[in-house]
Amino acid sequence: MIEKTQLEKIETKLDSVEKSTDGTIKLIFNTGFHCVLIPGKNNTSSNSDFKNKYTLCVSSQVGCAMGCTFCLTAKMGFMRNLSADEIVLQFDCALEHLCSLYNIDMSKLSNGKNSKGVCYASELITSIVYMGMGEPFNNYDNVVSSISSIHETYCYSFSKITVSTSGVIPSMKKFIDLDWKVHLAISFHSGFQEVRDRLMPFLSRWKIDELVEICNLYSEKFRDKIMVEYIMIKGITDSKKNLEKLLSLGFSKMTNFNLIPLNGTMELEGKTYYCSDNETLDNFHSTLRDAGFKCFTRKNMGEDIEAACGMLNQND
Ligand code: SF4
Repeated sequence: MIEKTQLEKIETKLDSVEKSTDGTIKLIFNTGFHCVLIPGKNNTSSNSDFKNKYTLCVSSQVGCAMGCTFCLTAKMGFMRNLSADEIVLQFDCALEHLCSLYNIDMSKLSNGKNSKGVCYASELITSIVYMGMGEPFNNYDNVVSSISSIHETYCYSFSKITVSTSGVIPSMKKFIDLDWKVHLAISFHSGFQEVRDRLMPFLSRWKIDELVEICNLYSEKFRDKIMVEYIMIKGITDSKKNLEKLLSLGFSKMTNFNLIPLNGTMELEGKTYYCSDNETLDNFHSTLRDAGFKCFTRKNMGEDIEAACGMLNQND
């Protein structure tokens, strides 16, 4: 846990908390960033000390420089990197909030493992995803240091942490070389270079072939599945041609696909775009499954408090 003196130094503290009707909780910090607790399925297993489980989505920057056209954070522009302490603070505050919500003795959590040898904190926050505001690999050192700190302080397993990147290839390579077996997710969004470049204009230097190559390298090295995130936008990413292209790129069968319905609308080149319809989403999902890939469709949570994917913005 962060020492009180360190907290005072960074001058960042929890400002307010918002709760969605679907149970999603947004923690808002006084220096312009948020983290989000997403409720999972309740667990009544006898091995578990807690019934309520959450995934924590943490921010790594205030704003973001990547300018992805479908993302609200991009509209803020880049403001600053979060320090490692500020990233860990999100985890500490999330735990503290849940402990007060469910009447749990917080001091037990920082003692590492429970009587059954299970990481106590991960009984409550079952996974941490670096998927909030910012591109984590544009703040590489602080992200790595925050992961190391959470791992050491809480005995929190690397395998319960996921870093989601828009595809900063040199940092992905460095991260894989750490041999930590932290999960990786990559915002891929189109198999066509020109479509990806329109959606993610500041990432055009990274080519599709190189992205597929590094995804396969990760899967091969760790015998683990990388998560390929794919946004579903009607008329841009969801045509039959897009699906065929995606299947032709040579992704290893160790790849998981996560289809993300566009949140709200998106403006691009003077036109308004919407989420794909359910039939198209189902077709993408079943075709990828039939081709031998594991495929998920993300359910957007916390839309009423603007905590859903791509909705984190300072000015809400
Ligand atoms: S999607 Fe991620 S990388 Fe792209 S602008 Fe938003 S926060 Fe940045």
